[in-house]
Amino acid sequence: MRFCTSVAGRDITWISDVLGLELEGSALTSEAGQQVTQPVVEEALRALLATSPLVETRYGSRGLDVDLTGDRPKVTVEDEAGEVSTLSAEYVVGADGSRSIVRAALGAHYEGAPGGRPNVNITFRSRTLGAMVPARNAVHHWVLDPGAPGMVGPMGRDDQWFAISTGTESVADDDEAASIVRALVGADIDVEVLATDPWQARLLLADSYGADRAFLVGDAAHQNPPWGGHGFNTGVGDAVNLGWKLAAVLNGWAPDSLLDSYEAERRPIARQTIELAANNMKHLSIELASPDLVAEGAHGDEARAAAAERIQATKRDEFHALGLVLGYGYGPSAAAQAPTTREYIPIAAPGNRLPHSRNPEGESLFDLLGAEVTLLGAASSAWADAAAARGIPLVVVDPVAHGFPPVAGDDLVLVRPDQHIAWRGPVSADPGAALDLAVRGFAAAS
Ligand SMILES: Cc1cc2nc3c(=O)[nH]c(=O)nc-3n(C[C@H](O)[C@H](O)[C@H](O)COP(=O)(O)OP(=O)(O)OC[C@H]3O[C@@H](n4cnc5c(N)ncnc54)[C@H](O)[C@@H]3O)c2cc1C
Repeated sequence: MRFCTSVAGRDITWISDVLGLELEGSALTSEAGQQVTQPVVEEALRALLATSPLVETRYGSRGLDVDLTGDRPKVTVEDEAGEVSTLSAEYVVGADGSRSIVRAALGAHYEGAPGGRPNVNITFRSRTLGAMVPARNAVHHWVLDPGAPGMVGPMGRDDQWFAISTGTESVADDDEAASIVRALVGADIDVEVLATDPWQARLLLADSYGADRAFLVGDAAHQNPPWGGHGFNTGVGDAVNLGWKLAAVLNGWAPDSLLDSYEAERRPIARQTIELAANNMKHLSIELASPDLVAEGAHGDEARAAAAERIQATKRDEFHALGLVLGYGYGPSAAAQAPTTREYIPIAAPGNRLPHSRNPEGESLFDLLGAEVTLLGAASSAWADAAAARGIPLVVVDPVAHGFPPVAGDDLVLVRPDQHIAWRGPVSADPGAALDLAVRGFAAAS
């Protein structure tokens, strides 16, 4: 993260090792973070869906109405040709963003408020900008000029870029957008405006995530300011949590009541994320900017040195949030152990994410996990019998036999399909009781 007087101007300070991008090969995670734009992620997800025989996609259709009054939810859909039909399903999941019609059908409401100043996003192409940025890679260039506060960053490895103009309500046309970009860059570069998008940060959390046969995931359930970049992550976390639970219920190995744990587990995480993002929003370019920073001479140098100190003191939590992203846990005991949002301290406790490790070959512990429930440790055959009796698809594997360090000393660890620990206990424990916990989920932390 580079803080500067303009993209082509002076450095004020840098914050490095940001957003988990530095974790390549780390024992902390199976994969490093990757900086990628949302359209690319959405294309990848769309391509994956196309390979699944379980999924039928209807691009171009629009949900008009959701009816939750009968035994099965019904959704009225209008296709691209304007033809209206009704779909009936066992469950409906509202992944339909901030204006969710599923949220409306549930009678659920966002709590909270809009927050922060208006912003305008501008995506653009420029052939010349790439040559002007410092050779050291920056994910964001934070521009602290009070005449043009905001941010610029690459959209990929070609000539596409984004800019955020902070404090701007709207732009009249592409010419105005191009001048904003040139002011942020501090040079008269070529700019082809691709899109402009006014937006305002919001701090909103739905009062219900749904129940019985209808649930909300992603922005339909929560919206947080994008500072720190956690909105999409939190939505994916919701989908993973709800996804395995729906599969377990539909495949008959978990009771319907498992679905009650979805809101209990996920809503506190959204609240925590909103709190961190709101804190990040206190120190945006507009707050950090000052005319002294763009001044020449000793006066300017002193102001930039003082600003660098302030940025290092106030901005690090925004870009170093592995404690939030990987360190959250479900249920009362996990929440009690939650470390700082900055640092991720893996703890093999129920509710927490399974601590990751690598064996001497560099393989990931997570690749040992089965598709559904996994018991890690030197377990007796009683576990397979108890799982079979309950219809629970259980894989039993001892990490030590594969060259990994023990996960939890001599204890066994039962891992859910979402890589969170359902139970931890001694080899002498009753397998049936532990497996019953896995299909119960965690109650909300008080
Ligand atoms: C400037 C900015 C920067 C951001 N940066 C980051 C970041 O760095 N990292 C991060 O993790 N998150 C970031 N976010 C947040 C992220 O974009 C959202 O959290 C994410 O897009 C939410 O995904 P979603 O699928 O829940 O909802 P959406 O992306 O809103 O998708 C909902 C979809 O449902 C469709 N839909 C809605 N209603 C209907 C209907 N009735 N019928 C049919 N379809 C319907 C919509 O067309 C849309 O395609 C940022 C957001 C902003 C504004």
